[in-house]
Amino acid sequence: MEKREQMYEGKAKKVFATDSDEYCIVSYKDDATAFNGLKKGTIAGKGVVNNRMSNYLMQLIEKQGIPTHFVEELNDRETVVRKVTIVPLEVIVRNTAAGSFSKRFGVAEGTKLLCPTLEFCYKDDELGDPMVNDYHIIACGWATREDLDIITDYTFKINEFLIDFFKKINVDLIDFKIEFGKTADGKIILADEISPDTCRFWDATTHEKLDKDRFRRDMGSVEEAYREMMRRIFG
Ligand code: UDP
Repeated sequence: MEKREQMYEGKAKKVFATDSDEYCIVSYKDDATAFNGLKKGTIAGKGVVNNRMSNYLMQLIEKQGIPTHFVEELNDRETVVRKVTIVPLEVIVRNTAAGSFSKRFGVAEGTKLLCPTLEFCYKDDELGDPMVNDYHIIACGWATREDLDIITDYTFKINEFLIDFFKKINVDLIDFKIEFGKTADGKIILADEISPDTCRFWDATTHEKLDKDRFRRDMGSVEEAYREMMRRIFG
């Protein structure tokens, strides 16, 4: 696979074309942003952690029967993925109250939810990624009912799998955000990343935060948290 021109640069990743129109190459950066780009910084080594962790988890999720964009890890920061049109939704699952959920609903951070909870946000930086429901999504044409049913089914299965996976390394999966894409032949597959940038990970014993909240909230030991998650997964 030959790397060609840059197609897109996001906050945390660059995407390159390849010599095949079925595949792209993503390159993970150390750049970090929060609060819709208002806070900017770098987290040394983050790109490597996110690339390796996301690829590893996607391969395990694939084994659970859920299709993903993962194709091949090229090096520490770069991965070949299937080219998709991203469904413009942030799909958020919450097992424990935190972040915007706690703020919006007045439920204390750390309150275990009675069941896993699903939220959709419409991906639009200018609008600040507003929370939307199924009707908004279908009415605006961001996804069809059929797409949403598949996305919902995959998402709860991914949650069950990830809860168990992280429990084994003494980490509570508080919440996470995933994104889906559609291939040229119309198949919905898991895309984007699963990493400490996109999940809340709390040590199951001490409740220490091991994710991007350390950056968002200026808690210090940000690099250490990413490295600790890497160590627990890969040894
Ligand atoms: N999240 C994300 N990207 C976003 C917004 C949220 O990856 O643009 C993740 C975030 O890391 C957390 C979950 O989605 O694991 C829920 O985030 P929340 O809605 O609480 O937003 P936040 O408090 O991060 O603004």
